[in-house]
Amino acid sequence: MKIAMVSEHASPLACVGGVDAGGQNVHVGELARALAGRGHSVVVYTRANRPDLPRRVSFCPGVQVEHVVAGPEAEIEKDQLLPHMAAFAAQLTRRWERSRPDLVHAHFWMSGLAATQAAGVLDLPVVQTFHALGTVKRRWQADADTSPPSRIGTERRVAHVVDRVIATCTDEVRELSKLGVPRARIDVVPCGVDIEHFHPAAAANPGPEATRRRRLIALGRLVPRKGIDDAIRALAKIPEVELMIVGGPAPEHIDFDPEVRRLRAVAVQFGVGERVLFTGRIERDQLPAVLCTGDALLAVPWYEPFGIAPLEAMACGLPVVATAVGGMLDTVVHGTTGLLVEPGAVEGLAEAVRGLLVDDERRRQMAQACVQRVRELYTWPAVAGRTEHTYESVVASRRRFDQVVEASR
Ligand code: UDP
Repeated sequence: MKIAMVSEHASPLACVGGVDAGGQNVHVGELARALAGRGHSVVVYTRANRPDLPRRVSFCPGVQVEHVVAGPEAEIEKDQLLPHMAAFAAQLTRRWERSRPDLVHAHFWMSGLAATQAAGVLDLPVVQTFHALGTVKRRWQADADTSPPSRIGTERRVAHVVDRVIATCTDEVRELSKLGVPRARIDVVPCGVDIEHFHPAAAANPGPEATRRRRLIALGRLVPRKGIDDAIRALAKIPEVELMIVGGPAPEHIDFDPEVRRLRAVAVQFGVGERVLFTGRIERDQLPAVLCTGDALLAVPWYEPFGIAPLEAMACGLPVVATAVGGMLDTVVHGTTGLLVEPGAVEGLAEAVRGLLVDDERRRQMAQACVQRVRELYTWPAVAGRTEHTYESVVASRRRFDQVVEASR
């Protein structure tokens, strides 16, 4: 198939780890790569956010990234991008008129808006992955939610006009149902992990086990909803253990970052300043070796649409202590690949981690179960296969519909 992926703010070519570049960038790039591996040709359309970007860049064999000029060719926060989506849609229409894709796959609500406008003109099938939902964000962030007020209404409309919605976890199915999306129009396909890259043998030499301080790792964008505050507060109740926080700005800018400064102040306030380590953003090729230095991953957001970081840690053989929210309800099997705790419950989190760290044998078993679970369910080829299944089903439905229309003429 000729697949057009639309990912307005999240380019697979971006450096991941900053405020607006995370899971979606990784997801779009890796899914496109894996689909190309199955013989499809993919073009990813993303907004040009610098004036010096080439119009087209080869991402890997079979995948091109196309930069679309819509609004100023400069960094714009994703919550400010909506006014530029009409221009984005017009550009997509022009391109697809010249070279018609078989199917459009939009990522995030604004891509869905632009993609459905452009695809509507040309009568192309559209599959939508939201990655995050405005209703969930509003519930948790209330007044701190900087999304445009029209987001929730637009999401509902997009969900109703596209051919199929891909939810990345069962919790998202529940949320989509609340928006009135019929279950039959939702497929569940999770995010994946590159197991060639993330595996237990990626460990650099972490030093002798006996002399090393136990290490917890938190990996992700440094935004409040990731619950890093809770991880730091829990550390105060877990003696002799360090917490390595991976993500945020590039390491050379770490000392000037307001969120890092705020979190450092929290660490000092709770008496663990010396046991909390901020690495800043770590490039993807270095990540597996860093993850392998940890004894467990802490993934304790207030809410989480999916959470690729826990999967990456699991692939490296790290048990995950996670809040029982969103995608982690599917990925983390309580008591088998890690432990699930209530969001915001600092004492419960500390107790779970303490229990895990004193039991080496339990951690070893969990590590094995983590690697096995990821290999069985979450490799990118498996995820791409399931996505392809959705694409084929959508194209077949369209064909049947066209035949019915033709026969009735
Ligand atoms: N990430 C990274 N380097 C960093 C911090 C994060 O490569 O310094 C990656 C992380 O490995 C994961 C992604 O950013 O692949 C975060 O995705 P996740 O789904 O966990 O969270 P989201 O960003 O979607 O909220």
